[in-house]
Amino acid sequence: YLSSRASVTSFSAKKKKIGIMTSGGDSPGMSAAVRAVVRTAIYRGCEAYAIYDGYNGLVQGKSGIKKMEWQDVRGWLSEGGTLIGTARNAEFRERSGRLKAAKNLIDNGIDALIICGGDGSLTGADLFRSEWPGLLEELIATGQVTEEACKDKETLTIAGLVGSIDNDMAETDVTIGAYSSLARICQMVDYIDTTAQSHARAFVIEVMGRHCGWLALMSGLATNADFIFIPERPVPHGEDWSKEMRETVLRHRRKGKRKTVIIVAEGAIDDDLQPVTATMVQKVLSDDLKLDCRITTLGHVQRGGPPCAYDRMLATLQGYDAVDAVLSASPDVPSPVISIRENKICRTPLMEAVALTKSVATAIKKKDFDTAVSLRNSDFQDSYKFFKLINNCEDPANKVPEDKRLNIAIINVGAPAGGMNAAVRAAAIYCFARGHKPYGIYNGFTGLVRHDSVKEFDWLDLDRWATKGGSEIGTNRNTPDVDMGMVAFYFQKYHFDGLMIVGGFEAFTSLHQLFKAREFYPSLRIPMVCLPATISNNVPGSEYSLGSDTCLNALVEYCDVIKQSASASRRRVFVVEVQGGNSGYIASYSGLVTGAVAVYTPEEGITLETLAEDIGRIKNSFYTDQGENRAGKLIIRNERSSSLFSTEFIAAAIKEEGNGKFEARTAIPGHVQQGGMPSPIDRVRAIGLAVQCVKFLEDMQADPQEILANSETAAVLGIKGIRRVFSPVDKLYEFDTELKWRRPLSRHWYTMKGVGDMLASFPSDL
Ligand code: ATP
Repeated sequence: YLSSRASVTSFSAKKKKIGIMTSGGDSPGMSAAVRAVVRTAIYRGCEAYAIYDGYNGLVQGKSGIKKMEWQDVRGWLSEGGTLIGTARNAEFRERSGRLKAAKNLIDNGIDALIICGGDGSLTGADLFRSEWPGLLEELIATGQVTEEACKDKETLTIAGLVGSIDNDMAETDVTIGAYSSLARICQMVDYIDTTAQSHARAFVIEVMGRHCGWLALMSGLATNADFIFIPERPVPHGEDWSKEMRETVLRHRRKGKRKTVIIVAEGAIDDDLQPVTATMVQKVLSDDLKLDCRITTLGHVQRGGPPCAYDRMLATLQGYDAVDAVLSASPDVPSPVISIRENKICRTPLMEAVALTKSVATAIKKKDFDTAVSLRNSDFQDSYKFFKLINNCEDPANKVPEDKRLNIAIINVGAPAGGMNAAVRAAAIYCFARGHKPYGIYNGFTGLVRHDSVKEFDWLDLDRWATKGGSEIGTNRNTPDVDMGMVAFYFQKYHFDGLMIVGGFEAFTSLHQLFKAREFYPSLRIPMVCLPATISNNVPGSEYSLGSDTCLNALVEYCDVIKQSASASRRRVFVVEVQGGNSGYIASYSGLVTGAVAVYTPEEGITLETLAEDIGRIKNSFYTDQGENRAGKLIIRNERSSSLFSTEFIAAAIKEEGNGKFEARTAIPGHVQQGGMPSPIDRVRAIGLAVQCVKFLEDMQADPQEILANSETAAVLGIKGIRRVFSPVDKLYEFDTELKWRRPLSRHWYTMKGVGDMLASFPSDL
């Protein structure tokens, strides 16, 4: 990947003509992918061509294929659907259609194709590639193209991007558009929740997913639904298909829950492959359980609207990588599909991914549901387990033996972050399910030492926390060294066997202080774990903190609005000051997903030279772009990037340089960045990570002396690259922390900064 502020001359690109098309069902983020491909291609010295309306444009040629310039994709990051259109094309399924497509590519000189679509579109592309030499032979033999035109075009290079709201592609954790759709569903279910609660009603909500239950499963988990119906885990056929649902609903109602939410994937089936519909579910709830029950079918709302921050990031980094993939491809290497595992962009042989995806449908047809679930990504399998566990925490099969039951303390430390409540709730409910006793330490360590603020959790209270922002048990920045003796006293009083700290850099510091204090206080010789939760994403040991995604979505919404205002005036730059402490993560990520022309981070600082260069670029573009081409611009500045070049100073400098042609304003979103309701990513990840934390506390139980001697019993749970790992806090403290700056030494997000910088402004070298 690029380092920040790379210059085009640092690349030795083979000059290619690269086509980009979107095909199959549309999904939010497809336009952002097109933008990334077009701009990366131009940046690498290549030409970019948009192929309109999927394979229609390829087969018909002429106006269906258009050369794209840098400014043609301006503003596309925030657009929903696909601005180059999509369609299904029957002709391309036949060789004759593909022959026409090959001729059109040769006529336009295109030698590489990037396709953003579902498994059908990618299968078609791979078939096209395999037939390519034969198609050229026929075109030359029939005089439709000349040999000269086919020179250097013996192979067609292709790369796939998966655009699909269903998240149904194997070998990748997420597809472009899936999280935007999930966000839309969760928002709708959250709205329905309040009315259901008021009237004590039941709602059956039908969501998309003809063959894949990902949207139903994840929205069920994120919105705390009572039951879900998905194709991969069908209910029993016959009289008793609704038994488990009825029992679950009744159990929840008996515990005091007033509302019932059931989510049904449109492709839900029973184990005899017969459909289970929302109407059938409603009938059971109304007739058998006598609940006032309504159906809401969410329909195309799920496909529409602007992409969420994650999809913009995914589409941009994958679009960038796809260009790299076609430029570095060789004929003997299978075509890749660009995927993502945890937080890392990867490549997988396209047809392997397609074959695996198709085998899910085959497994379902053969009623081999275990195989179907095992072929979905690991998140799917874990999420399904968590969903079942959370909604059936009385099941004796999940309990540990009496003598292994633990007292688990849970505390929040630091500023509030989206997903904190979901994490606390999931950890506590998992404790119930296992037979442990979960205790909340309310209002942080000061609450503990001053007010003995320990309370056992109540299931009904917890039930309402899943979707809430902020911190229900209260949080503050104080660390246990406010009074370590009292902390140890209370740990002894309540016989805590394990501690989970959910929070940011102070949570990390707290864990380290407690770890150090074990030497003096025997009651602290228990396993302890920190689950990172901070919008700044600056906890050593993890590339992701709960709350950072919620923050980015709040910023994306905010920036979209001010960018629109800046664009309307055709002459305005906004300098947006974002939080993030001494970490440039939020600034870099938000810069990438809002298309900011410059991003200032504390790690890089701001120099007179970079400022002058950036203002020069802005000036250039305001002078060269005329009329409607003039778009508003954003600069993102982290609050601590420079003590000298403040947000106001930068805006004033731009205004001065604008000399009446353009001007600048400041915008400071402040605490809006903590977000309202947590994003689905933060909610869902909170559940998985919290359960893993409690498992860690179970696994690390040992004799106090052994715990004292084993530093691995105090760890941070983090996502690193493609893995989730527990890192001992002492090692992180010593080797991966810049204490003075309260941030990790490693900066996994530099890639984003480089790509963001590259795609935001036309390279002056060109
Ligand atoms: P979604 O997941 O949204 O349905 P998809 O890409 O799977 O997306 P399809 O309708 O299967 O959607 O495929 C889109 C287009 O790709 C088809 O209309 C057709 O032009 C082409 N295509 C699909 N499968 C093939 C194939 N086996 N051979 C040639 N072309 C194909």
